[in-house]
Amino acid sequence: MIDIRDLISKESEKTVATRRDLHRIPETAFNEQKTSVFVAERLRSLGLEVRTGVAGTGVVGLLRGGNPGPTVMLRADMDALPMAEATGLPFASTHEGVMHACGHDGHMAMALGAAAVLASLREQLSGSVKFVFQPAEEGPGGARPMIDEGVLKDPDVDICVGCHLWPGMPEGYVGVKSGPLMAAMDRFDLTILGQGGHGAMPHLCVDALEVGTQVVSALQRLVSRKMDPLSPNVVTVGSFHSGSTFNVIPSTAELAGTTRTFDREIWLSWPERMETVIRGVCEAMGAEYDFRYAQGYPPTINDKQVAAEVHACAVAAVGENYVVEPASTMGGEDMAFYLEQVPGCFFFIGIGGEGRAPLHNAAFDFDDGILDTGVEILCRVVLGRLSSPD
Ligand SMILES: [Zn+2]
Ligand SMILES: [Zn+2]
Repeated sequence: MIDIRDLISKESEKTVATRRDLHRIPETAFNEQKTSVFVAERLRSLGLEVRTGVAGTGVVGLLRGGNPGPTVMLRADMDALPMAEATGLPFASTHEGVMHACGHDGHMAMALGAAAVLASLREQLSGSVKFVFQPAEEGPGGARPMIDEGVLKDPDVDICVGCHLWPGMPEGYVGVKSGPLMAAMDRFDLTILGQGGHGAMPHLCVDALEVGTQVVSALQRLVSRKMDPLSPNVVTVGSFHSGSTFNVIPSTAELAGTTRTFDREIWLSWPERMETVIRGVCEAMGAEYDFRYAQGYPPTINDKQVAAEVHACAVAAVGENYVVEPASTMGGEDMAFYLEQVPGCFFFIGIGGEGRAPLHNAAFDFDDGILDTGVEILCRVVLGRLSSPD
């Protein structure tokens, strides 16, 4: 019988040190050079087959078990955010203006901790574990190009599991949910082209600013009047620029925003739905427009069976009372791309508590004692799939 806790606690100091080492060298999306070298060296030292330079800075480590069997993929993200750190921690960022403020240092440390523990059990595994370290989760997204470069193939991935440290849940809790967990998130840009002129003579102009305000409110009605109120959807216009002074009617207005939904069909229908509204308003007012819609991440939807497995592993790790069903969030995650291709589960590890800063905050930090919980759940999921009955 494998004493998984014992193996994890032997690795524990190193897991914390790894998190701190990575925290010191945060790098932004697709610039994760040092991080990539660090991760690849560690995976090599554990005897894994390592592929580097996947989608730029991505790293894949393959642990082949002693016997044939399925392949479990564990995913971690590598990128940090372009923001200054204000934690005052002894292991704070040494890269000015860049900070691991989304816990991705922790995600990597947990995956590497699991790699160390599982490598020591290699002979007992029936199947393979694929450790995927991807760039650019914060955008524009590293998962898609990693998939394009074949990370789900050779050997083919059967299930895919990943997690996020989550300040929205108290420390010590684990959140596991079947079905939609995080929203699809896209971006749109709209330029309204009117005809400028004197502020006293609107009838001789096409007021792009005024048309823009109508478009903003019509887009809100798209959600409130054209969509099922039981289906959560968001259209946010986050920027609106028009005009230069008080007595000139502006000829252009520039808007940009984002949409969110958990529903794949709605996700795919946004561009057409939105353009119908924009075209109608602009036509009525005599304006032209240039509408660009860019798909971001799909909705993150967990597989029922894999979520049940993760749930059972979380219960084994922290006890039934500390495993909860988390509220879904309109935030997006590019883990969604893997989950579109293979069944899997993305889950949350609570790090919240008194005085804890939220994600993407300059004071963001977490107690790295929590990392062992993540290592344990990841290891248990793998062992659940790759242990041969004896
Ligand atoms: Zn983030
Ligand atoms: Zn994140």
